[in-house]
Amino acid sequence: MITNKLSHPRDFHYITSEWYKTRFNQFYQIVNRKKVFFKPYKSLHKGLDLRGNIGDIVYAIADGKIVISEHFYYEGNFILINHGNKIFSGYMHLNERFYPENTYIKAGIPIGTVGKTGMVTGAHLHFAIWIDGFTANPLSIFSLPIKN
Ligand SMILES: [Zn+2]
Repeated sequence: MITNKLSHPRDFHYITSEWYKTRFNQFYQIVNRKKVFFKPYKSLHKGLDLRGNIGDIVYAIADGKIVISEHFYYEGNFILINHGNKIFSGYMHLNERFYPENTYIKAGIPIGTVGKTGMVTGAHLHFAIWIDGFTANPLSIFSLPIKN
């Protein structure tokens, strides 16, 4: 099903952070105007970061149904699309979400805009794919680039 028609989540392809790259996370709080750092921790990057500016359009990569359209603390504005066959795509840190849950959308339909909501340092699209509950490399699923 997912090979029938695919779209790219952005209108150009510029990867700022690859899938499964190890990264150190260090967050801090401001206490009495000073940065107080939390203990750093290592995590795997289970998505692909694509460069974008706030307001740039984000497209659904394939036909499916929006099953989550919500704001979360870490993910920010988040959209999750169920493409059937246990395949899901996720779009994080969005500035705007164009559709509520339970909306059926087509490949290439604008679903929101790039933003920097949630736990991020700058505007980008964090794009993730899950197949049967496992995170998969997004580059394995869409062809690149389809637009310039
Ligand atoms: Zn990311």
